[in-house]
Amino acid sequence: MDTGSWDYSIFWKEAIKQIREEISDQEYMMWFNNIAYENSREKELVISVPSSFYRDQVKQRYLSLIESKILELSGNRIILDFLIRKNSASEPEEEKKSRAAASFRPEPTRKSRGNHAQLRGEYTFENFVIGVNNSFAANAAIAISKNPGIAYNPCLIYGGVGLGKTHLIQSIGNFVHREFEGSKVVYVTAENFTNEFILAIRDKSTHKFKNKYRNADVLLIDDIHFLQNKTETQEELFHTFNALYETNKQMVFTCDRPVSELKTLSDRLRSRFERGLNVDLQPPSYETRFAILKKKIESSGISIPGEVVNLICNNVTTNVRDLEAALTKLVAYAELVNKNITIEIAQSQLKDIFSNPRQNNVTIDIIKRVVADYFGLSHNELSGKKRTKAIAFPRQMAMYITREITEYSTTEVGLDFGGRDHTTVMHACQRIENKMKMDPTLEPILQHLIRAIKEHSTKP
Ligand code: ADP
Ligand code: MG
Repeated sequence: MDTGSWDYSIFWKEAIKQIREEISDQEYMMWFNNIAYENSREKELVISVPSSFYRDQVKQRYLSLIESKILELSGNRIILDFLIRKNSASEPEEEKKSRAAASFRPEPTRKSRGNHAQLRGEYTFENFVIGVNNSFAANAAIAISKNPGIAYNPCLIYGGVGLGKTHLIQSIGNFVHREFEGSKVVYVTAENFTNEFILAIRDKSTHKFKNKYRNADVLLIDDIHFLQNKTETQEELFHTFNALYETNKQMVFTCDRPVSELKTLSDRLRSRFERGLNVDLQPPSYETRFAILKKKIESSGISIPGEVVNLICNNVTTNVRDLEAALTKLVAYAELVNKNITIEIAQSQLKDIFSNPRQNNVTIDIIKRVVADYFGLSHNELSGKKRTKAIAFPRQMAMYITREITEYSTTEVGLDFGGRDHTTVMHACQRIENKMKMDPTLEPILQHLIRAIKEHSTKP
């Protein structure tokens, strides 16, 4: 058969063009700028991407969208095949070459270096439990560590308190410091960056300050939300960013929310943060909480019955920091009174932590209010009987969110949403899940709503 007669490139181009109109510029730049059409075979279209990590992410996020677009356009079910480009970075070839001369190409170390002064030794990838809530961020961090300055630069990791931002960003630092001899890793919190900058101005030693940050091979800045309102520090960081970016040095930042939600941040700095890869950390699921606790228990060498681990996982759902705090308290008590940890001891010792108002107090009412607000509807409309599209979709979202972040059963949710049957709730959840597979813009909206609901719920 003449394999040269297949050419689906035209469908590919058109599909990509349409997708570009449907997703945000940032998303497009992040995921589609680095995909290249390679060739076609019968019922197969081959595209190339820079890495297996990239391939997995694109598959997970966009495969069904791309394939359905191509099906629509060509009338054929054409399968996408992914090829990994050799030695490729996440940027176009020419740009890469022009910057390569000045770039940082660290050599893997043979002998091990001592610990990095600014990094905590235990914040490593080995100690980080990967679950669905954090796998994207963790895999991106690992990919960056193996190829600093090459792929995903800059990278911004965002997520709520205690979800592992500091652990991950420092793991990158520890890995690079350990594996690449001569590499200069600089880690700083945005708060210390600000303070050092203020001192440098006062002492007229800004050249020293600039030297420190602009000569880094890997610059890690934790908690950049601290920079809100700090105009001069933002200005300084903007110039630092440009200097490092020009020379292909890796930058990683963390933030407690998406950059788009930061207030009083200069537009040009915001656009720098948004330029590279932005990844989020979500609260861990029950399974991940269980795995994290197990790991911490193993390394502490103490024996704790499974039912106690289960009790903690069921009652501490907010974040990993709270999970650790519960364990630490229990272990400290057991050592103090020299007793084995039983379920009774756990229940009485941890009752304050379990009844912490931050735990499990998301109500259907708060969910309805936040979702209704977002879609410009009233609380009553969301619970009412009307089935117009403008109301049905927000209602389905609210039901889906309720099932995702609370323990209410489908029957309870149905009752609360206008006395509907539990199968209606199941159907609504299924519809949202299907929509999410087809429409990558839905997930960020959903996450935004969940964050807003949790924020409302933590207010005293
Ligand atoms: P953040 O900076 O997001 O507030 P941290 O990185 O300080 O959170 O994490 C809080 C605690 O939880 C740390 O002790 C960290 O080691 C631990 N932790 C967070 N996520 C994980 C994980 N996935 N696996 C193991 N430990 C974790
Ligand atoms: Mg932190």
